[in-house]
Amino acid sequence: MTKSYPHYLQVSGWNALLPPRQAKQSLVSDLEVDVAIIGAGYTGLAAAKRWRELAPDDEIAVIDASEIGEGTPGRHSGFLLEIALANDARPAQMQRMTRCNELLAQAMSTIVRDVEDAAIDTGLQRSGVYRAAAGPAGARALAQYRVFLQAAGLPFEELDRKAMQQNLGSSFYKEGIYSPHCYLVQPAALIRALAQKLPADIQLYENTPATRLRKSGGRWLIETPGAALRAKNVILANNAFSKHLGVGKSRLVTIYTYAGLTRPIDKELGDSLGSDSSWGILPTHRLGSTLRKMPDGRMLVRSFYGYEKETPTALVSKQLKKNLCTRFPQLKAQELDKVWGGAIGFTLGGGSLWGEVKPGLFVSSGCNGGGVVKGTLFGACLAELANGKQGADIPALFGHANWMPPDPLRSIGFHLTSALERFRGRAEI
Ligand SMILES: Cc1cc2nc3c(=O)[nH]c(=O)nc-3n(C[C@H](O)[C@H](O)[C@H](O)COP(=O)(O)OP(=O)(O)OC[C@H]3O[C@@H](n4cnc5c(N)ncnc54)[C@H](O)[C@@H]3O)c2cc1C
Repeated sequence: MTKSYPHYLQVSGWNALLPPRQAKQSLVSDLEVDVAIIGAGYTGLAAAKRWRELAPDDEIAVIDASEIGEGTPGRHSGFLLEIALANDARPAQMQRMTRCNELLAQAMSTIVRDVEDAAIDTGLQRSGVYRAAAGPAGARALAQYRVFLQAAGLPFEELDRKAMQQNLGSSFYKEGIYSPHCYLVQPAALIRALAQKLPADIQLYENTPATRLRKSGGRWLIETPGAALRAKNVILANNAFSKHLGVGKSRLVTIYTYAGLTRPIDKELGDSLGSDSSWGILPTHRLGSTLRKMPDGRMLVRSFYGYEKETPTALVSKQLKKNLCTRFPQLKAQELDKVWGGAIGFTLGGGSLWGEVKPGLFVSSGCNGGGVVKGTLFGACLAELANGKQGADIPALFGHANWMPPDPLRSIGFHLTSALERFRGRAEI
């Protein structure tokens, strides 16, 4: 089994809800282009679109190991944040954070524009987001986020247990903050819509994994199972899997996280899930659970992490169900209709691996679990960097991916830190 691209145990639950889609052809004959982009996710598609604007005559090819909607970009929880994640918010660095938030809002507006123009219903709505705390670790994180929102002059609403219960139908949470700066979306529909908006003269090859990357005859040579792709410039937009193509091995870890969807819940039970017709909750603790009530009455739960490999589905399913029922005991008779995993590029320090690593070789990987809007921004800025345009200084604003020791030390460090965090944030998990 090759490790240069993701192999998932289960199909994406979101993609399975959509009508079948005809994938674009895979690469079957050798090709030479000006720029090859590996990964048709948020980062790769944004890089391709921006490159086209900056260099209208360049030949651009995007390859993806999977099919649009079925791969990692169609597996997330659907929270599109216009402002920094609670964990990243630094009240002491307000100038930097304000600039980050401005850039994220601009990236979000490009997503909204593309989605409005595409002929696919993505369910995109600016529903806002609840951050909810169940115990002391969550309450501390919430307090810090409150300071950040106040200092940034951003609107928010504070909720006590009773208000949380009323809006969301759960008495699990002691307090919460509602912030309007978030869109909710159907993830597989979103990536399908964004791919549909790729200019027609950009070649997109699906089911085309890059298995090796090297320099040959003054060009970058990408090996794929069907053919070779040569390019003057390469953008690695394949998240943690860039390390399997030789970039970021000492800075990236592949972490799997898991999600499940119930079937649509009948109206009577649905009415017990809060007065809001649909809503989204993000955890205040890194190891906490994400929940959504969908407009069609399904419930989403996302939780748990696996280091470098996916946990068997039966175990994941049991754990997700338990987490859902801890918060919503009224759902104990509901089975999870769909359960799946997805890969996240994790870095030490919270920043991404971003920039030119060798002449003509560019990378933006390591999303740290919140990379839909950020990836859209980072991909566009990477195309600007590659085309000599002075854009946003992503590492200065969003941080760096720090060096990590190799395995087994890395794995031991990860498991020890996770165990400690699980203990500290046990009420939130
Ligand atoms: C369960 C879950 C819930 C999440 N919830 C959220 C959320 O609510 N909000 C949020 O912002 N983020 C969320 N995330 C994270 C989010 O999915 C990522 O941050 C985002 O998809 C990153 O975008 P990207 O384009 O940088 O990389 P990816 O989405 O990882 O896309 C990389 C692409 O590269 C392709 N690829 C990989 N290797 C190769 C190769 N060798 N050759 C060719 N192609 C390759 C993959 O098939 C994939 O299509 C979640 C992730 C998971 C798994």
